[in-house]
Amino acid sequence: VAVFERVDRRRDELLKALLTYLAIPSVSATGEGIAQTAEHIAAFMRGAGFAVDLVDTAGSPVVVGTLRSARAERTLLIYGHYDVQPPGPASEWRSPPFAPIVRDGRVYARGAADNKGQHLANILGVASLRDVVGELPCNVTVVLEGEEEVGSTNLETFVGAHREALAADLVVMGDGPVRPSGEPCIGFGVRGLLCFELIAEHERGDLHSGNWGGVVANPLWELVALLATICDRDGTVTIEGFDDHARPPTELQRRAIERLGVDIDAVRQTLGAPRLLAADSEDFSTRLAFRPNLSLNGLHGGYTGPGIKTVLPNRAVAKCDVRLVPDQTCDDVFAKLESHVRAVAPDVRIVRAPGSMEPSQTPLNTPLAEPVRRALAAVHRAEPVILPMCGGSVPSYAFTRRLGCPTLVVPYANADQANHAPDENLEVERFFSGIKTAAAIVAFLGATAACKDGV
Ligand SMILES: [Zn+2]
Repeated sequence: VAVFERVDRRRDELLKALLTYLAIPSVSATGEGIAQTAEHIAAFMRGAGFAVDLVDTAGSPVVVGTLRSARAERTLLIYGHYDVQPPGPASEWRSPPFAPIVRDGRVYARGAADNKGQHLANILGVASLRDVVGELPCNVTVVLEGEEEVGSTNLETFVGAHREALAADLVVMGDGPVRPSGEPCIGFGVRGLLCFELIAEHERGDLHSGNWGGVVANPLWELVALLATICDRDGTVTIEGFDDHARPPTELQRRAIERLGVDIDAVRQTLGAPRLLAADSEDFSTRLAFRPNLSLNGLHGGYTGPGIKTVLPNRAVAKCDVRLVPDQTCDDVFAKLESHVRAVAPDVRIVRAPGSMEPSQTPLNTPLAEPVRRALAAVHRAEPVILPMCGGSVPSYAFTRRLGCPTLVVPYANADQANHAPDENLEVERFFSGIKTAAAIVAFLGATAACKDGV
């Protein structure tokens, strides 16, 4: 409670720290401002009492901050990413993406929610608690990478190479949105992500469709015919063995899914009434949590300009992503895609994009989830929603696989954060409640350790 009061008293100062951080661009896709941002947040954390290292990787540096405590038994690892998505056309923003501004109770800037605002809240929460209690009840390690928006290419290697220094009892990542209802939630797992391209191409240029159509194979038809063998209209992937390794939900997970109670009609209304593939609430949540999905992201080829052009195009490209569930792996799924393409359309090339993410899952009955649940309940005066799996992808697997450590996603951002889009924003109150949540997680995690020993 004392720490909550301290946060409330220092609101202006805390908000200013966020605005300063957001004013520095850090676009991993182009490299703009990456080094400068890493230096900035490292210096900020040093000022807050952390011991900080900037560790080089094959890509962007990783910022590692630690606050050790002599009386602590447990260690909390906080993950975040200081890189942001490219802002896109400035004209689509109401205010410039790197000139953060508070409007109607929200901070608008690229990175406000994804992810600077969320991990800064965690850092400030830890620092606020330390200011109040002197010595933290558990050790804290902060890991901030600068490549999440380009696939976290070097994170797993980094974590593997620093296993001892990063050893922790629990990993918490503040990323993604709270529930559309505004309720806080805890995500126990995330789906993986694998992107690939299919390319159908003939060496000759475009051909006359009257002189060559029906005689020379058409790359666009080849690609479309192949795609039709990959996924049906109901979203079921029809490649042999595709979901062989998809682990069915446990009894506990099924009950958590039932409790989510999604209002299907409201979803349809919100989205402007598209055809939903999910039959009911349970099917909706099960599909997002426990089924792999293959999305056709883009399909290009031939002529789509004004008027007509009777042409047999020489090139067609499809871009796709797969969301994987435990125990699928990117390598295995890609191998199955490759052999399917080889068998059905040997002339079509399949190219895997760099930067895939494996799926990750932490059991719902993990004891150390309890301090996190208590922290959210204390701040929001309401029980958090339990999500066995999140539909999106963050690199939790780097920690679950390399550290063997339970990893929870504890998002702070509003559901309409517009991450990756123009006018990205974070509700100011959610920034402050995030700071309080982080402080409470550290306090409760430390208290659990003390209880264990009967102190
Ligand atoms: Zn993002």
